[in-house]
Amino acid sequence: MKIIADRQTLNHWMNGCAKEGERVGFVPTMGALHAGHLSLVREARKQCRRTIVSIFVNPTQFGPGEDFGHYPRTFEADRDLLEKAGCDAIFLPEVETIYPPGGQTVVAVEPLGSQLCGAARPGHFQGVATVVMILFNLVRPQVAYFGLKDYQQYTLIRQMVRDLAMPLEVVGVPTVRERDGLALSSRNRYLTEAERLQASALFRAMNRAQDHYRKGESDPRQLEQSAREVLLESGIDRIDYVAVREAETLQERECIETPPVILIAVRVGKARLIDNMVLSLY
Ligand code: AMP
Repeated sequence: MKIIADRQTLNHWMNGCAKEGERVGFVPTMGALHAGHLSLVREARKQCRRTIVSIFVNPTQFGPGEDFGHYPRTFEADRDLLEKAGCDAIFLPEVETIYPPGGQTVVAVEPLGSQLCGAARPGHFQGVATVVMILFNLVRPQVAYFGLKDYQQYTLIRQMVRDLAMPLEVVGVPTVRERDGLALSSRNRYLTEAERLQASALFRAMNRAQDHYRKGESDPRQLEQSAREVLLESGIDRIDYVAVREAETLQERECIETPPVILIAVRVGKARLIDNMVLSLY
């Protein structure tokens, strides 16, 4: 497995793949890898001859007072996991490699980028869209893999790729969960034991909405309310949002016609937790 830090070496590696006609799958991450990230790598390996994972804690997607400085950095463990997973290369750039001095350009996907998590974290999605655009241009993969765990991010990247006619395919990979339903996240390590128990309410809340949807409830506000009740019953009262939206575009609807997605963002202890579920009738 090759570890690549600079643009020139990356270029060289990618040119080698291109010369051999190898399809390259790309998995962008911020490191602190867990089984969720590894399922993206597995998917990439199934579909592509070569897999490259980037590890870059992107400063521009963190707001002031957020956890950029404390975000877990566990490179050695990440490298071992990726080696075992059969990854071909890690792109591990410094900040200056991604953002050389003097840069002026950003990517804004609006209004989607200002809604939901974008409302609670101003500038976050502009940082995400910009870094993903730069990474795509540096890596030039045929396919990129994103977790459905970050559903708004996945939707936003697909929108960007469509709008800017970028020549690659974006694949969404299902969320990997703990036994009690909590979605794996690098930020779960911020939770105390008691908070960790509380956090399992997110999955129960989404399932409550799912039950109501199956019983015929089609008013998004009622579905949101049923999930919100589960969170409150479990003592989670710092709720950024509980939203039922159209699953393709994340647009708001008065009444549900196609299966929607429920999205939740809450604060538990020091962690901000997000999760979502596409509701189905069967
Ligand atoms: P991050 O390192 O948090 O930026 O995540 C990198 C990629 O892994 C993103 O596309 C995430 O959506 C994805 N991811 C994170 N957690 C999970 C999970 N539990 N299941 C599936 N994918 C995940």
